[in-house]
Amino acid sequence: MSDRSIRSIAIVGGGTAGWMAACLLSQTLRGTGCAITLVESPDIGTVGVGEATIPPIFDFLKLIEVDLDAFIPATQATFKLGIKFDDWRAIGDSYWHPFGTFGVSIDRRPFHHVFHKARAQGLDPTAPQFSLAAALGDAGRLAHPDPRVPGPLAGLRQALHFDAVLVARFLRDHAERRGVRRLEREVAEAKLRDDGFIEALALKGGGELAADLYIDCSGFRGLLIEQALGAGYEDWTRWLPCDRALAAPTAHAGPPPPYTQAVAMDAGWRWRIPLQHRVGNGYVYSSAFIDDGAAQDELLSAIGQPLAEPRKLSFTAGRRKTMWSRNCVALGLASGFLEPLESTSIHLVCSGLYKLLDHFPDRDFASVNIAAYNRALADEYETYRDFILLHYCVTARDDTAFWRDRTAAPLPDRLAERLELYRACGRVDAKPGELFTDLSWFYIFEGMGVTPKAYDPLVDASNFQQVRAVLPELTARIAAVVAQSPTHEAALAAIVRRSA
Ligand code: FAD
Repeated sequence: MSDRSIRSIAIVGGGTAGWMAACLLSQTLRGTGCAITLVESPDIGTVGVGEATIPPIFDFLKLIEVDLDAFIPATQATFKLGIKFDDWRAIGDSYWHPFGTFGVSIDRRPFHHVFHKARAQGLDPTAPQFSLAAALGDAGRLAHPDPRVPGPLAGLRQALHFDAVLVARFLRDHAERRGVRRLEREVAEAKLRDDGFIEALALKGGGELAADLYIDCSGFRGLLIEQALGAGYEDWTRWLPCDRALAAPTAHAGPPPPYTQAVAMDAGWRWRIPLQHRVGNGYVYSSAFIDDGAAQDELLSAIGQPLAEPRKLSFTAGRRKTMWSRNCVALGLASGFLEPLESTSIHLVCSGLYKLLDHFPDRDFASVNIAAYNRALADEYETYRDFILLHYCVTARDDTAFWRDRTAAPLPDRLAERLELYRACGRVDAKPGELFTDLSWFYIFEGMGVTPKAYDPLVDASNFQQVRAVLPELTARIAAVVAQSPTHEAALAAIVRRSA
């Protein structure tokens, strides 16, 4: 270890972000002697409603060596094969953004171009016919990915729904077992050095906590990154006007489906996330188009009697102008907020952590290194913002002022270019490594009724009679896997029994 290496880290906040950071940093820095302390206030609660994830969550859990057979029962988790969107294009309309592969690549051409050709040939294909995840979801069944078996199982991917409060508790035990010290205190303020770096955290009631590196996981308030360091906030309300959520759990009315449901509402949308012990529901809405009382009435008339009073949360879509400033890195809600339509927040915590490891500093805190981190995360936030915005901007709905406004609002340049490119030739040109690939964009375009003028011309180089024969075979192979798979409920019960 160099004599400039980081010797101590202070994490402020014990929500999902704080404990995820504690787990990954303690895992990565084990054996270096770096001391990690997490301080969380007993009086300031966590948001605790982050319940739906995306497939890379499994990479994170594996990296920090979590035993899934223990994690799934402890967090009341269920499996998620994708998101089903209801009423987004038009009321009564429904579409899937499933995980995993779509059809098969034919002559190395992406299948969604083959799909467009099939439609142009009058075959009337539908996206769920060629996605195992969507077919399993519609049947309420669950299979696990198996890369050893050629066929649809090899390309299947899944994620989890879980109770965020239980996850924080689970990760806390995990991190504490790895030597992370937990301090149950409230941070009163950050004391700054003359050069603007954080020197120490003053604790309410007396005492201080000093460290070389500070991780701000204090939630929306951004106690260090904003209140102490004044990073500034880039407000995206003009594109994503939803600024409130009402969250309320209900009891199960049937077996838990293995997917998240996102239902468009009068002034936003509603999530439905099945857990083992309850269903999480919430209405994400824009206070410019509906007041809180009317939003609550609309939510309750959709979900029925909740198990607890609806909880209100307020936020502003956007991100910190810099997510790493001097010796402080913000993660989770302290770094920014995107509505949970594509379940990106917890993933952004993972991604921020991976990028922090890729740019791990020493005590010199090279400013070019910090700038590189900020550029990478800003770009990631912006591509997610555009992808979320896509769900709104091509709607055919005009039944409320909120929906009429969605197609009238101007778009960020990059999204406008992607829309134009897709409409012309069915491509998006997502960069290698982008979370939402051309296929993800295809699902949303297709579900929202946007069909490109032309498909990949190289698809015409394949023998279409052979392609025509492959399509029903693919659907039949998917149907065979679905028929052999247990129900989601039975698959969960087996895991819970195994861990008992
Ligand atoms: P919080 O949960 O707010 O935790 C903040 C922590 O900081 C707390 O422990 C608090 O005690 C501590 N703290 C604050 N001030 C002080 C202080 N002065 N001293 C000491 N400690 C302090 N994400 C998804 O991935 N999927 C979803 O489906 C999803 N749904 C969401 C729905 C809504 C309506 C909202 C608002 C968010 C959703 N999210 C979702 C985001 C997700 O909840 C958060 O990204 C995640 O929980 C991380 O939160 P956090 O740890 O950053 O902040």
